[in-house]
Amino acid sequence: MSMRFDTALLHGSFKGDEATGATLIPIYQSSAFGQKTAEEIEKIFRNKAPGYAYSRISNPTVASFENRITYIEKGLASVAVSSGMAAIALTLLNISKAGDEIISKSSVFGGTLDFFKDIEKLGIKVHIVENITKEELEPLVNNRTKAVFAETIGNPKLDITDVKAAADLCHGFGLPFILDNTTATTYILRGIDLGADIIINSSSKYINGSSNSISGVITDSGNFKWTEEKYAVMGEYLKLGKFAFTAKLRNDTFRNFGSCLSPMNAYFNSLGLETLSLRMERHCENALLLAEALEGKEGVREVNYPLLKSSPYYDRAVNILGGKGGGIFTLRLYTKERAFAFINSLKYAVNITNIGDTKTLVIHPSSTIYAHSGEAEQAKAGVYEDLIRVSAGIEAIEDLKEDFLSALNCINEKLPPGGGRYV
Ligand SMILES: *Cc1c(COP(=O)(O)O)cnc(C)c1O
Repeated sequence: MSMRFDTALLHGSFKGDEATGATLIPIYQSSAFGQKTAEEIEKIFRNKAPGYAYSRISNPTVASFENRITYIEKGLASVAVSSGMAAIALTLLNISKAGDEIISKSSVFGGTLDFFKDIEKLGIKVHIVENITKEELEPLVNNRTKAVFAETIGNPKLDITDVKAAADLCHGFGLPFILDNTTATTYILRGIDLGADIIINSSSKYINGSSNSISGVITDSGNFKWTEEKYAVMGEYLKLGKFAFTAKLRNDTFRNFGSCLSPMNAYFNSLGLETLSLRMERHCENALLLAEALEGKEGVREVNYPLLKSSPYYDRAVNILGGKGGGIFTLRLYTKERAFAFINSLKYAVNITNIGDTKTLVIHPSSTIYAHSGEAEQAKAGVYEDLIRVSAGIEAIEDLKEDFLSALNCINEKLPPGGGRYV
């Protein structure tokens, strides 16, 4: 009998600590692991025996977190790394070299767009498309193309990728589809079931849940056929078939770039993972109720949330995300000054560059996370001068509504920042 998702968060691939009966995996806060004999350590280094040698390569607390993620993602294997950006960087560097090309959707995370500029300097060209459609991909795909990259729910554009259609299309071109599922998480969308080949999570966000650790995870479905002809860069690992991607990542790219996850952070992530479903349910519910409360109010130019009927992605939110819109919405307030004053008037929502915390968070993306992008690039990513991104927390919705509606009242009445309301 297979476990249901909520049960798998707690029991999937995890039986507590066998040595002591502890209900959580201990934090093996150790850089290195001694073995009794030179023969044993040789075997570990040659992958001929299980075991641990050095925490940049592997660590029991980190491995436990990786196995739990692999289980809920229904993947072949996962590698946990130091950040979501490291997960994206290592994934792309694992399968490409100078002269190669990647195709990405335009609505991806600002840091990802910045990273694309960095790999262009290494000779890897990144083509940006608005949508993953045959019309947009066909003119760009050639034998140097190595992968297609997209996010499930674009942050902060909040467009929704039809993951199954995109994966099928990529496979038709002989390309792997890499899905950054950070904003949706596996609670909302099972990327591997829908055909995504590699799943990226910035576990700094909803998986950790309380913003206490930066980290990322790469999960390999094991389904993509890496061919000699196209992925010569994967060298000797190709003969491992479905294990090729993860084997190269573990033994080369991840190990040598040194972006390992600390055991303490892996422990916090495992702890957060256990309550993912409960939190996501509330994040989604609060985001919808707050977005609905603000839409159409005086002084609000637009509210964007996939589950609002006004969203062009409403049908996809219902059909692809199963009626869960995620925890993020955006609102436009006509001017940058009003957006700033609104943020300054909020009482509970924290002004911060993050998403997926238990607390409600707001940010003005245009002057922060998209500060390095030009106006045209910002518009493509759904970022405007008067736009605020909200990551709904799990507070009581009545308090959130009061907080946001009184901030709106403040700026509509042109009260000074803070409005004198809460001081
Ligand atoms: C935050 C984020 C990242 C980067 O993750 P870090 O852990 O901050 O490095 C990547 N993709 C998405 C969608 C994100 O929200």
